[in-house]
Amino acid sequence: MDENLVSEIRARLEDTQEKIARAAHSAGRDPSAVRLVVVTKTHPVASVQAAIQAGACNLGENYAEEAVLKINQIGMSDVEWHMIGHVQSRKADLVAKHFDWMHSLDSLKLAGRLDRFCADAGRILPVLLEVNVSSEDSKFGYPAWDSNQWPALRDEFLQIAAMPNLRVCGLMTMPPFADLAEESRPFFVQMRRVQEYLAKQIPAADWGQLSMGTSVDFTVAVEEGATLVRVGTAIMGQRPTRG
Ligand SMILES: *Cc1c(COP(=O)(O)O)cnc(C)c1O
Repeated sequence: MDENLVSEIRARLEDTQEKIARAAHSAGRDPSAVRLVVVTKTHPVASVQAAIQAGACNLGENYAEEAVLKINQIGMSDVEWHMIGHVQSRKADLVAKHFDWMHSLDSLKLAGRLDRFCADAGRILPVLLEVNVSSEDSKFGYPAWDSNQWPALRDEFLQIAAMPNLRVCGLMTMPPFADLAEESRPFFVQMRRVQEYLAKQIPAADWGQLSMGTSVDFTVAVEEGATLVRVGTAIMGQRPTRG
């Protein structure tokens, strides 16, 4: 274990947690209602292990195959693994078997396959529906930047909410890259509006979780109600390029 790396990560982890606590207090929220997901995508297993040693207990990965290699080495018992990237439906089995959370559920087809593989594995997977609240700049997620689009979500979300092996817990979004945290605020506000709408329309499902905010804008996300923030670079440092 690289002890220097562990202490670097620990310092940044604690700094991030302090910022989350400050943002939560400033918005009158309980900091314990915000879960910090440390995004370890493209980092080697040794760095992920250093992060765990430093105290990370929720880890976020984007690429199913890469993640499964790491999960098989590290295990599923000490940490919770969060899938936060776009998943092709043919890779649904990897997510169903190896992840504790699925943030980026963006189609009925993927939901159906996840549900089936979870049934095979005897698991119930907590899922978040990915919505796009920022229009053309974002590739994935159900279109939801205009309230006129919301009624069209209802039918598909009802079908997903009825799947026995998936547990709908809320929403996730990835706004366009921002240089300044404040640029993301309108998108986070819009997320809360979508959440309120769905809670009224589909009260049988739980819409309580909001996964939003990355290294640049997680404090603003917490001010606007995030319950899961996904922070990579600010804790792990610069990402090695993939491949
Ligand atoms: C990479 C990634 C993050 C983390 O981004 P940082 O800027 O490194 O904090 C969060 N969410 C998603 C969906 C990502 O792909």
